[in-house]
Amino acid sequence: MNLNQPITYIKGVSVARAELLYSELGIRTCNDFLHLFPNRYIDKTQFYTINQLQQNSSEVQIVGKITGIKTVQQKRGSRLVATFADATGTMELVWFKGVKWIKDSLKVNTPYVIYGKLNWFKGTANMPHPEMELVSEYKSKIQMAMQPVYPSTEKLSNKSVSNKVMRTMIQNLLQQSFDSIEETFTTDFRTENQLLHKKESILNIHFPKSQELLAKAQYRLKFEELFYIQLQLLVKKLINKSRIKGYVFENVGEQFNTFYNNHLPFDLTNAQKRVLKEIRKDTGTGAQMNRLLQGDVGSGKTIVGLLVMLLAIDNGYQATIMAPTEILANQHYNGIKELLANTTINVELLTGSTKTKKRREIHEGLENGSLHILIGTHAILEDKVQFKKLGLAIIDEQHRFGVAQRSKLWKKSEIEGVPPHVLVMTATPIPRTLAMSVYGDLDVSVIDELPPGRKAVKTVHRYDSHRLGVFRFLKDEIEKGRQVYVVYPLIQESQAMDYKDLMDGYESIVREFPSPKYQISIVHGQMKPADKDYEMERFLRKETQIMVATTVIEVGVNVPNASVMVIESSERFGLSQLHQLRGRVGRGAEQSYCILLTGVKLSSDAKTRIKTMVETSDGFKIAEVDLKLRGPGNIMGTQQSGVLNLKIADVVKDSPILYNARQCAIKILNDDPGLKKEENALMLKRLTSLQRTSGIWSNIS
Ligand code: ADP
Ligand code: MG
Repeated sequence: MNLNQPITYIKGVSVARAELLYSELGIRTCNDFLHLFPNRYIDKTQFYTINQLQQNSSEVQIVGKITGIKTVQQKRGSRLVATFADATGTMELVWFKGVKWIKDSLKVNTPYVIYGKLNWFKGTANMPHPEMELVSEYKSKIQMAMQPVYPSTEKLSNKSVSNKVMRTMIQNLLQQSFDSIEETFTTDFRTENQLLHKKESILNIHFPKSQELLAKAQYRLKFEELFYIQLQLLVKKLINKSRIKGYVFENVGEQFNTFYNNHLPFDLTNAQKRVLKEIRKDTGTGAQMNRLLQGDVGSGKTIVGLLVMLLAIDNGYQATIMAPTEILANQHYNGIKELLANTTINVELLTGSTKTKKRREIHEGLENGSLHILIGTHAILEDKVQFKKLGLAIIDEQHRFGVAQRSKLWKKSEIEGVPPHVLVMTATPIPRTLAMSVYGDLDVSVIDELPPGRKAVKTVHRYDSHRLGVFRFLKDEIEKGRQVYVVYPLIQESQAMDYKDLMDGYESIVREFPSPKYQISIVHGQMKPADKDYEMERFLRKETQIMVATTVIEVGVNVPNASVMVIESSERFGLSQLHQLRGRVGRGAEQSYCILLTGVKLSSDAKTRIKTMVETSDGFKIAEVDLKLRGPGNIMGTQQSGVLNLKIADVVKDSPILYNARQCAIKILNDDPGLKKEENALMLKRLTSLQRTSGIWSNIS
């Protein structure tokens, strides 16, 4: 049987039912159906006696007899109640539907096996709508030890596609197709990695013969799923390296050297030097660089980016850096402009607020090559922006940029099909397991060291009722010449409410910190970019001591004199946001503080978040906790990657399997990069068929 045939080929599946299964569960082919894995299993290997039942035992199987039946009238219709007893006690069976028919079919004082969910009422157990079978019949049948429970939807159950129906369809399918299920690993590979045969795995995932076989089947299928994702990513990386040509930055020239020797305001950390070396190596090979630079907030990614831009310029290319917000683009522009003040390099800023005349000048400068560095927001992506020779594109805080946007950058100045080198910088630490599955095809550099002299930010949790004490502390800090952020949450769904919260907060702070002694800036999402910049500027120039803001200041903003970050309603923030916000302080030499204000009632997740923030400042640890709390689907960038549409594996829970699978894939590719050897033929075949259907294969960057 060809498993790519539609499921109407299965006995008992009509066209109407096939359409329903497609619209509800996305099942089109027989193969899709074989890979619809049960959510859980009903374990019918165990029997309970009535005195063993617990409030928390959910689904149970019991042998006993019905000792009495009564019909109870209720508001709408009637309810049927049967007393059910075994040697240890009694309980009730209850029916709300089909009362009449069921009443006639029940046999009193005859042994039954019943199965179902328990409810408790005043200390007595009852089972609504139990599955029942006479013990005499039960004994005559071969019993399936464990029964699969399939994913379902309301529509499916309404159209009477019950779990039993699903089970029957899959049973039929297995009978028709068992011999057509193809193995994707050789026997040697399976033996070496202790993997069950594919056929056995599929059979046991649907109808497990025992707990042990179920576990083996699950392991095999998870391993297979993760292995082929890793193989795809690793092959893609190999292909990128060998096929996608890149410019060669041969010279470390005058611009780089002059800057490095005369204008660099500090010594680079060892981590920065190491990353620079990694990038130099990439840009010297003749293949395009696709590198992800991870570094915790404040680790000094910008200067690394700048040095690589100088390298590009030394070799006759232009460079660009793209930031997610105007504030950030501005800040990069001002910072870089200042650093390059004594050089001959031309730098311009392009954002949504750039005036038409300026814009035209910029376009011209880019096209004739007189403009070396362009800094901006996504305005850079507009088609009109074309470079003479773009050699390097840096994307700061990449998680705000979609895949499509990144690929746009590629086309900015392809000279004979050669794309610019791409460096993606992010302060959002990506847990290792996730990085492996999402960015397995990118090279990753990590700055794992903060510049010297930084003191860890002291983080505390305070309840709202302590606000006055917090204000006193802020006054002390301001007295010492420090500056303070007060941040309010911003949640897209109710902008109006957030705005009100912010304004109420702003007013109470104005009351507490009166002018002229105190000056206060405010920045929020509904302001014009120019007004935001004006307020940011005032804060940066120390004209204001307090910055009241929504999370617009979250990413990248750098005001070293600011030493206190107060986060209002911090229980409403996600962990990565809290970490980003805290990263706005602790950038100067002074001791800095982060104060997390919350209400008294906290959900258990919120408690974990706050506790994590108080206990650690390690971005990677925080990211791991975040991943556990939120699951991979909600972490940056993963939705669009498609990599995480996993059918059975879970990148968090199954990370040991993921490591194994990745190691296996690396070993095979090291030995046989083109999968040309006879023993790898099966893998090549599987890979080729995946590449035809899978989204990851298209260019990620
Ligand atoms: P991020 O990695 O969060 O983007 P930045 O690049 O904004 O961090 O750097 C944070 C601050 O640290 C800046 O003020 C920068 O000038 C400073 N800095 C960067 N590298 C060093 C270093 N090696 N020594 C001292 N200060 C540094
Ligand atoms: Mg930065």
